[in-house]
Amino acid sequence: MSEECIFCRIVAGELPADIVYKDEDFLAFRDIMPKAPTHVLIIPKAHTASVGELTDGQQELAGRLIILAKNLAKKEGIAGKGYRLVINCGPEGGQVVPHLHLHLLGGRQMDARLG
Ligand code: 5GP
Ligand code: ZN
Repeated sequence: MSEECIFCRIVAGELPADIVYKDEDFLAFRDIMPKAPTHVLIIPKAHTASVGELTDGQQELAGRLIILAKNLAKKEGIAGKGYRLVINCGPEGGQVVPHLHLHLLGGRQMDARLG
């Protein structure tokens, strides 16, 4: 855990969050400034700064992140109409919080343009 990382602090229960799912390895909670009617952030509990920091040994973790997003989309009731999964990486990728997270966005029509 990184002491200064806000998402690590949410994992540790030191900061409040609207948690929608948790298991041994992952946590999912609602984004504090939602960009869509459904906006859930899904994170591995163990601190990895970004996609850029993932190792070959974390293939399973990365795959499970996407499968979990799919399952939560169903649970949130947005699977039928569709949704968007986003992972920002680094400053030009628009990443603000340096703890790997996947955005699950749905409940409205997404812009076809990407960024
Ligand atoms: P990024 O731009 O790094 O991909 O996305 C970071 C996201 O985290 C943003 O959508 C922002 O609204 C959200 N966020 C930042 N701080 C907090 C917080 O303390 N709690 C929650 N629930 N979301 C946060
Ligand atoms: Zn962290």
